[in-house]
Amino acid sequence: MKILLMLPLFLFFSCQHAMLVNKGINKARTTMLSDECDGFKFYFQKNSLGDSARPFIKKQLIKYKQEILTIMAEKTFTPGIEAFFYSSKEQMNQALDTKAEGISFASKKVIAFVFSRQFSSLTRHEISHILSKNLWGASEIWIEEGFATLTDEDMQKQNFHQQCKALIGTPDFIDAYELFNHFNSFGGNWNRYVEAASILKFIKDAYGNDGLKEIWKKKRLQLKNKSEKQLLKEWMSVLENTCN
Ligand SMILES: [Zn+2]
Repeated sequence: MKILLMLPLFLFFSCQHAMLVNKGINKARTTMLSDECDGFKFYFQKNSLGDSARPFIKKQLIKYKQEILTIMAEKTFTPGIEAFFYSSKEQMNQALDTKAEGISFASKKVIAFVFSRQFSSLTRHEISHILSKNLWGASEIWIEEGFATLTDEDMQKQNFHQQCKALIGTPDFIDAYELFNHFNSFGGNWNRYVEAASILKFIKDAYGNDGLKEIWKKKRLQLKNKSEKQLLKEWMSVLENTCN
């Protein structure tokens, strides 16, 4: 009975959210300053820091897109991507009905960032979502988030194996079953991204891009000749041998 009541409510709110997002994007398309270059259409608020940093932002996004394609071993992504830049988290949240600091809408090929003097969410993460979901299709949330996080590893002080190793034996370490099946119930917890990225880093290093794609398509940690249990054991052994 509870589920029967919750489903229409969920559909109502997600439908309303989608309408607000569409409205926000359409409004931004007509009110913000736009600029096209190398497969991107950029949108900036008038007199914003983003607007004055156009050359830097454009260069970064084009570079990031190319780097993600290299990580994915894909040659090209031809559909255009629209990138919106807001001066504050509040302004972006209000415009796109989100609490996030950076966001992507893969089917629309739309990304949005906060770009201010205090904070910039301009990383590879959101672009990764657009490229991976459109080129490889949808996967499980922990795999999609883990991969997007992994593409930004060079921005981290420590690599994801090192960060993950530091969590083992502490209450912050998330059990793999929980990570795979309840990723979103750890809202706001950065460790879930660290662990997911570490697992995918292990797969990519040990089984290459084919291994990564196999897991992506299967939507679970499993390869044709390796079970989930075996892969988790191998991952743990990699972490044990990781130097801090
Ligand atoms: Zn993400």
